[in-house]
Amino acid sequence: MSAAAELVALDRISVQFDLGGGGFLGGRRRVLRAAQDVSFSIAEGETLGLVGESGSGKSTLGNVVAGLQPPSAGTLRFRGRAMDAATWREARRSIQIVFQDPFGALDPRMPVSDIIAEPLRIRCIGSTAGRRARAAELVEQVGLPRDALNRYPHEFSGGQRQRIAIARALAPAPALIVADEPLSALDVSIQSQILNLMKDLQEAHGLAFLFITHDLAVVNHLVDRVAVLYLGRLVELAPRAELFARPSHPYTQALLASVPRIGVRRHRRPAISGEMPSPLAPPPGCVFHPRCPKAQDACRHDVPALAPAPGRPAQLAACHFKD
Ligand code: SF4
Repeated sequence: MSAAAELVALDRISVQFDLGGGGFLGGRRRVLRAAQDVSFSIAEGETLGLVGESGSGKSTLGNVVAGLQPPSAGTLRFRGRAMDAATWREARRSIQIVFQDPFGALDPRMPVSDIIAEPLRIRCIGSTAGRRARAAELVEQVGLPRDALNRYPHEFSGGQRQRIAIARALAPAPALIVADEPLSALDVSIQSQILNLMKDLQEAHGLAFLFITHDLAVVNHLVDRVAVLYLGRLVELAPRAELFARPSHPYTQALLASVPRIGVRRHRRPAISGEMPSPLAPPPGCVFHPRCPKAQDACRHDVPALAPAPGRPAQLAACHFKD
């Protein structure tokens, strides 16, 4: 990671959803713990990959960073300032989000020029002509033809719609884009084109990305550092090269064992046995212990802290017996 200034920081963020229950009918209240005590930061211009299975809490944390989900506990900072209603008003244009579904994310009744200019119009930024000019500039930057401006979302393929969504996110010149599984609704052949586009845009604009994905193989092509989530907990945080060369946490090791690599046969069976427990009833101690091949007694009682792996100060893992 470069020594660039901190852009966004999550400090002990937790997100819980109260699903009701209890009361005079008896029974226990059902509380879904989507994220528990998660801390990490993103530097200016950095791309951080946030990786985890479905139900790990990665989209919830992406929504916290994008200001769409208030945390239940903890602090979110942007350029050193703790976020509240007032600071969000200033920061909102600096943090944009691209969603997984390029079909649902674009208003089918709006032409592409209006879709791209919408974040500027909502914030009364620039004149109508200025916003139109900005949309024209962005449509070219994302590799679409000029005549796309006057067409409607249904006239485009999935990959092209994701380009439109990226152009819209770029419109207010953000410092950070939260990209929530931006490839998973696209054909494999299109995925690498969108990845390359994001890489090019990052270099051209000095943008930071929070790239959310279930696919470790994808982040290997794009990110500076990787944060691995399991059942709402951050279990490993490391520079990309270190994490891929020598994963420290048993969960990261298992995830990597299932990633196909050139010259190495993919494991035939899932590298991790069992299912992820419900976030309604996370296990005590280390949340990974029911599935961990290295689990010992302490793992069932004591929550492991995120701490450096032996001899690797930049590689943090939450494990009592980290490698
Ligand atoms: Fe496995 Fe224990 Fe480490 Fe958790 S703390 S990952 S159960 S060895």
